[in-house]
Amino acid sequence: MVQSQNSIPAFDIKQQYASIEAEVSTAVLEVLTSGRYIGGPVVESFEQQFAAYNGVNECVVCNSGTDALYLALRAFNIGADDEVITTPFTFIATSEVINAVGAKPVFVDIDATTFNLDLEQLAAAITPKTKAIIPVHLFGQPVDMTALMSIANTHNLIVIEDCAQSTGATWNSQRVGSIGHIGCFSFYPTKNLGGCGDGGAITTNDPEIAAKLRVLKEHGQKNRYIHEEIGVNSRLDAIQAAILQIKLRYLDVWNQKRQAIAFRYQQFLNQVPGIIPPQELNGGKGVWNQYTIRVLNNKRDWVRNQLQERGVNTMIYYPRPLHLQPVYESLNYQPGQLPVSEQASQEVLSLPMFPELSEEQQDQVIYSLKDCLA
Ligand SMILES: *Cc1c(COP(=O)(O)O)cnc(C)c1O
Repeated sequence: MVQSQNSIPAFDIKQQYASIEAEVSTAVLEVLTSGRYIGGPVVESFEQQFAAYNGVNECVVCNSGTDALYLALRAFNIGADDEVITTPFTFIATSEVINAVGAKPVFVDIDATTFNLDLEQLAAAITPKTKAIIPVHLFGQPVDMTALMSIANTHNLIVIEDCAQSTGATWNSQRVGSIGHIGCFSFYPTKNLGGCGDGGAITTNDPEIAAKLRVLKEHGQKNRYIHEEIGVNSRLDAIQAAILQIKLRYLDVWNQKRQAIAFRYQQFLNQVPGIIPPQELNGGKGVWNQYTIRVLNNKRDWVRNQLQERGVNTMIYYPRPLHLQPVYESLNYQPGQLPVSEQASQEVLSLPMFPELSEEQQDQVIYSLKDCLA
C-alpha cells in the first residue's frame, strides 16, 4: 500500500510529550532522587487534584482502568449470582471485570446515534438479580446520566461509570465519574489524560467506599500485615503520578482542542454522502477520545483502504461486539440479537484525533474522505 510521506497517524502521543518534556523530566527526576517510588506525597497530591478536577470528595488511584472497574465492583460486594448490565460495544475490560468478580454480564444494545447504552432497553433488562449498571461514556461522549440515574434509583442499582475514554467530559456541567456511585478512569497512554505506562483512578463521594477501595487495593490490609479480605496489589507509581499531575494542568486545553477539531470535522463532513458523523446529546459535552463516523452501504473497509492510500490512518473501534466474542459463547447470544451494536461494528471508522492535529492535517482527512466518496 502506498503511503505518502506526510501520512497522518490515527493518534500521536509523542508530540504531546515533546511539548511538556522539560517539566516532565524535572518532575520525574525529583521522584527518582526522592526515593519514594511507591505511594508518598506525589501520589497523594495527585489523588487530591484529580478528585478536585472531577468535583468529588474522594479519589483512589490504582494500576489501570481495568483494575479501577474491578475494585469498584468488589467495593460494592458484587459477585456470584449477581447480574451487571453493560454495553456490548466497548473494550473487553468493561465486561471482563464482571466475570472476574464472579458475576454475570448482561449485554444491552446501544443507541444508534450515540453508540452508548440504549436506556429503554436497559430498563427492560433489569431482573431481581441485577445489582449494578456499568455505563460507558464511549469515545468520550457522556451517557444521558439524568435518565440513567433515574432508572438506577428506581431499581436501587449501583452505577459504576466507565470513564476510561472520557476524562473531563460533562453531563449537564457535571463531570462524568461524579454522577454515578463511582467513576473509573484509565491513564493508558492514548486516553485523554494518559500517563507514560499503565494507571487508573476511582472517584466517589462515598468515604466508606473509598476506605474499602484503599484496603482492597493493598492486599486486603487495613493495618500492616493484618489481612481482612482477599485483595490485590494495585498501585499507581509515583513516577506516573508526577507525570499525570503535570498533564492534568493541560487537560482542559487539550480537550478544547479535540472539541475544536470535532467541530471542524462536523462542519465539513455533514455534507459528505454515505457517512454519518457523530452527534452530541443536548446536555453532554464530550471530549472526543475518538471521532468515530459511520460509513454506510458496506463501504467501511473500502473507505478505510482508500484513506490509507491517501495517507490518512484510521482505526476500527470495535470490530466485534462483546456478546459475539468467543469468550462469551457460553452466554448463548446469537448473531442478530443486539443488531445496533452488530451494525455499528461493521460501519464504524475512527478518524485521526489528537489535540496536536493541525488544520492542514484535518483538511487532508476531510478532503480525502470527500474525494473517495464524492
Ligand atoms: C481503556 C479502557 C479500559 C481499560 O483501561 P486500562 O487502563 O487499559 O486497563 C476500560 N474501559 C474502556 C472503555 C477503555 O477504553
